[in-house]
Amino acid sequence: MKPVTVFGPDFPFAYDDWIKHPSGLGKLPQAAHGRQVAIIGAGAAGVIAGYELMKLGLRPILFEAGQFGGRLRSQPFEGADGVIAELGGMRFPVSSTGFYHYVDLLGIESKPFPNPLTPAAGSTVIDLLGKTYYARTLKDLPPLFQEVAQAYDEALEQGANFTALKQAIRDRDIPRIKDIWNPLVAAWDERTFYDFVVSSEAFQKLSFHHREVFGQVGFGTGGWDSDFPNSMLEILRVNVTECDEHQRYMVGGVEQVPRQLWQRAPDKIAHWPRGTTLRGLNDGATRAVAKRIRRISENQIEVTDSWGRAEAFDVVLVTCQTHLLTTQIETEETLFSQDLWMALDRTRYMQSAKTFVMVDRPFWKDADPVTGRDTMSMTLTDRMTRGTYLFDNGPDKPSVMCLSYAWMTDALKVLPLPVEKRVELALSALGKIYPDVDIRSHILGDPITVSWEADQNFLGAFKGALPGHYRYNHRMFGHFMQEDMPPAERGIFIAGDGVSWTPAWVEGAVQTSLNAVAGIIAHFGGQAPPDNPSPIEAYLAHGPVRLSA
Ligand SMILES: Cc1cc2nc3c(=O)[nH]c(=O)nc-3n(C[C@H](O)[C@H](O)[C@H](O)COP(=O)(O)OP(=O)(O)OC[C@H]3O[C@@H](n4cnc5c(N)ncnc54)[C@H](O)[C@@H]3O)c2cc1C
Repeated sequence: MKPVTVFGPDFPFAYDDWIKHPSGLGKLPQAAHGRQVAIIGAGAAGVIAGYELMKLGLRPILFEAGQFGGRLRSQPFEGADGVIAELGGMRFPVSSTGFYHYVDLLGIESKPFPNPLTPAAGSTVIDLLGKTYYARTLKDLPPLFQEVAQAYDEALEQGANFTALKQAIRDRDIPRIKDIWNPLVAAWDERTFYDFVVSSEAFQKLSFHHREVFGQVGFGTGGWDSDFPNSMLEILRVNVTECDEHQRYMVGGVEQVPRQLWQRAPDKIAHWPRGTTLRGLNDGATRAVAKRIRRISENQIEVTDSWGRAEAFDVVLVTCQTHLLTTQIETEETLFSQDLWMALDRTRYMQSAKTFVMVDRPFWKDADPVTGRDTMSMTLTDRMTRGTYLFDNGPDKPSVMCLSYAWMTDALKVLPLPVEKRVELALSALGKIYPDVDIRSHILGDPITVSWEADQNFLGAFKGALPGHYRYNHRMFGHFMQEDMPPAERGIFIAGDGVSWTPAWVEGAVQTSLNAVAGIIAHFGGQAPPDNPSPIEAYLAHGPVRLSA
């Protein structure tokens, strides 16, 4: 059977084939070689776009306000060797074939992520309404859990023609995808995930308690009630492209992806000598935070950094979260249409907090002498920790517990709290689930925590589109198509998680950064190779469906 990949459903384009194609992504006119492109943000979208633009002969100059890698942040525990906490993206579905292209290029090893009820987790504990269940697979749980899982499958089938849509994605059958997906866009853009669940025949037959359990346990990765207010389209995309399944983690940390790409000399490169790297073209380091963007002539846009250094660029690519164009960067208003400003500012970001500790060894695998069960397990709960994930670095090696991974209200509960208090609260919640386990006695070093909404370089974790936001997504995603734009709005591009159709998944950042690359090639008067048409041609042929104004 062909694999499911993030091929649409809004814009079915084979990004994975496009980037691998031997003819390359395009050719720029000689005069464009060596021209400077400003890239705001050294996260996945910024670094990948920079790498591809360098290969085409341009000089990408990256600006970074905080930490290199952005939301791919693998923070080392102090005093330990290679023990890390994944503060942003941590589990990467194999359907993210654009992202894995770079992972494979760099030779980074990955392993199955210890998600609930998977062999990689070993065992799972579900603790709901004061009751605790121990399981290795879904079959070990009481029938109610299976009823919930089955009801969601049925709801997807009845409400979204799910199997047929997934098959069309496997087959990369664009007309079929459009036939199924476009009516769903019109039907579900303005309705929530919760509405989809409760109005489905499958859940109507069941009790409120079933919906409650579904909200806590969800379909594979847990904690889906935080997404209940989102547009159902957001959720359907995750399900149908299998972003919630077959996930892997990057051994040694995902931050290696942007860091290694920054230092990698491509095998094939136009204009620049062999051995050229992004790091080299940037004189060894990124520029500081971008503070102002303004047009200085018909073809030039100026970016000023926090040191007051103002430089002129032919093109600017913005990859930071879109609301930062209002809060952090003095962005000349005429660079974007008012319709686009509406979308950039209305984009809704979700909150997320994680708290980690390092422990002496994966003690959770010790078998209880009486029950034979693991001492502790991957844990999903309605208590404030929500999800506890366990990362085994090998027997007797310092290992990592993500004590709590929470979203929205559960993330806000800890927002003003220092790390020590967060750990206390998490240990207290886990103490109720595992009264006989002394986690404290295993902890080494200092804990690590993050609240993405508290960081001025993000102000949120990732986009979570609300009902009625399809049109905003459409404007942002299609912004790389600049041919018909007024000259005052050309030459500035946007990419990244918030611009994509699959926010909270790095694949969306990758795909939108590749759209920007296609747009930038066109901006410089470049050509796509005839045997490797770009997203621009594909967008003209089968861009996302347009809803009425
Ligand atoms: C908690 C969390 C969990 C996640 N889990 C997963 C997961 O399991 N799987 C998955 O696939 N994806 C996951 N994601 C999503 C994934 O991490 C993102 O899609 C991806 O990293 C976004 O990359 P980006 O380049 O679009 O944005 P970013 O990584 O945010 O990069 C933008 C950069 O711009 C910088 N910046 C901001 N303002 C300025 C300025 N004025 N000047 C210069 N630079 C600026 C920021 O510091 C940042 O480094 C998760 C994200 C979070 C936050």
